[in-house]
Amino acid sequence: MRVTKAGFIERQITFGYDFRMHCNSCGRSSTLNGADSIRLESENNARMECDHCDGSIHFGPLAADLRDQDDPALDGGLLSKLSWVWLSCREALSWENTG
Ligand SMILES: [Zn+2]
Repeated sequence: MRVTKAGFIERQITFGYDFRMHCNSCGRSSTLNGADSIRLESENNARMECDHCDGSIHFGPLAADLRDQDDPALDGGLLSKLSWVWLSCREALSWENTG
């Protein structure tokens, strides 16, 4: 992550990241990439193997876990200092043009 001159922590949000799904059998999370989620949804009724035990995870919104456990937004000490700013590749929508 990059820190801007204004003190913003800048991070790219893309749809190229993996998902993390919670296993009810062992309580740990397993990684699921986008391609596998599409494939397994039709091939295996949205079930994946757990990376840590013999359990099977029925993945979806109810099983979704934190994507990044080291996300600075999870630090309670930073909570009052954080704000969400929408940045866009489109110049007309960039925060720099908002005033
Ligand atoms: Zn498990």
